[in-house]
Amino acid sequence: MSSEIPVKQIDPSSDTSDNNKNTGTVELYASRKKIYVKGVKKGFFQRIRNVSLTALMGMYFLFVWFTVDGQPLIHFDLPAREFHLYGTTFYPQDFILLSGMLIIAAFGLFFITTLFGRVWCGYTCPQTVWTFIFMWVEERIEGSRNKRMKLDKAPRSVEKIAKKSAKHSAWLLIALATGLTFVGYFYPIRELITDLFTLQANGWAYFWVAFFTAATYLNAGWLREQVCLYMCPYARFQSVMFDPDTRVVSYDPNRGEPRGGRKKGIEPSELGLGDCIDCGQCVQVCPTGIDIRDGLQYECIGCALCIDACDEVMDKMEYPRGLIRYTTENELEGKTSKLMRPRTFGYGLVLALMVGAIIFTIATRVPAQLDVLRDRGALFSFNGEGRVENTYTLKVDNMSEVPQTFTISVSGLEGIRLLTENTLTVASSENRALPTVVDVAPENISESNNAIVFTLESQSDKSLVLETESRFVGPNR
Ligand code: SF4
Ligand code: SF4
Repeated sequence: MSSEIPVKQIDPSSDTSDNNKNTGTVELYASRKKIYVKGVKKGFFQRIRNVSLTALMGMYFLFVWFTVDGQPLIHFDLPAREFHLYGTTFYPQDFILLSGMLIIAAFGLFFITTLFGRVWCGYTCPQTVWTFIFMWVEERIEGSRNKRMKLDKAPRSVEKIAKKSAKHSAWLLIALATGLTFVGYFYPIRELITDLFTLQANGWAYFWVAFFTAATYLNAGWLREQVCLYMCPYARFQSVMFDPDTRVVSYDPNRGEPRGGRKKGIEPSELGLGDCIDCGQCVQVCPTGIDIRDGLQYECIGCALCIDACDEVMDKMEYPRGLIRYTTENELEGKTSKLMRPRTFGYGLVLALMVGAIIFTIATRVPAQLDVLRDRGALFSFNGEGRVENTYTLKVDNMSEVPQTFTISVSGLEGIRLLTENTLTVASSENRALPTVVDVAPENISESNNAIVFTLESQSDKSLVLETESRFVGPNR
């Protein structure tokens, strides 16, 4: 049996879309249309963002300067392979904790996204936070949306050059402060600033400060929504976490349509209209330039500026607020929405388990480590007393914030003796190797290969006890 796929001949000249009007070809590239975002001065969600933005920026710029017991509050010391976090030092051996924290962050994001959509993007994502700061600076210097559009269209003038120079200088200053602060989490900030300005810093410090300054300036000043639309993978896969009960920023078409202009004081029903007066305010304030009335779109970062803008319009029109609001697909269809459902329960359960596991791991973390290496060059030897000797190297890491002096002991065979040092002092964040010799009387050795245990007990912290097993080799029996 054969089948034929019908093929339709397309005449390119008949295509009248914008892309194809002149050439008959489809352009895969669309040049960016600059978005002039109208500032939202007041509104509930704008106030929430102002608080979150101030808190996050405050933490970012201040934490780098704080110290606890002489140690930086947060410092990633890559050359020493130490990570100082809130008074605790972590080492590469603690990598499992870092992995656990990343898993918690991922499941936390899934959990919140399933419940409330892209609140991370709208209120806390660094791209959003810095873009909003840059937009705020732009509005202070160049003026409102209309003034900025006029300024861009105006021919070159002293005023235009002065305003543009001031804006870019301010952006660059913020970007430089951001870059310096970021590098300051890896290179103590006070030393970094001194070394940079006295030309004592190494080349990588200059490179990374310049890199993060340029990245901040370009991403928040120039690329803005392009980062969210084309570079951020989260925007692309967030929809798989949404379901009809996810609470997202939505326009209520049942209430708003048919849209249309009218004077204040006229009831919409008198004109056969819905509550949307088609003023376009929700579009003008949108940092990604979309129209939320077209439905949920991947470009929407959930910033809720359109809610604040529309609520202001509703207040002026004396209509109830909430034509654009946080709601769910089910609620818009008149159904009830559930907060907890299998998906949120699953993410929440994994999140709770991971948080519990991390708390348990940190609470039971031993801030020191003992490794015992047996000397493989000689199996055993007899000493002057006729006893059997074995040689080891004890390697001790002190991961606590204070020096530790350990008392060393060995057990496992009757009459086993330690012939070398029985104490060892290791400074904070250091490791030491100690050659060690133990002996046993031949009559107490029943096997050629015997288990023994080295024990190190801290003299200042009795709860800090390290035990590691090794082998003691004797003559064949
Ligand atoms: S701000 Fe509100 S009233 Fe104005 S166009 Fe948008 S949805 Fe309609
Ligand atoms: S439509 Fe625009 S203004 Fe409204 S929440 Fe989404 S990104 Fe923000």
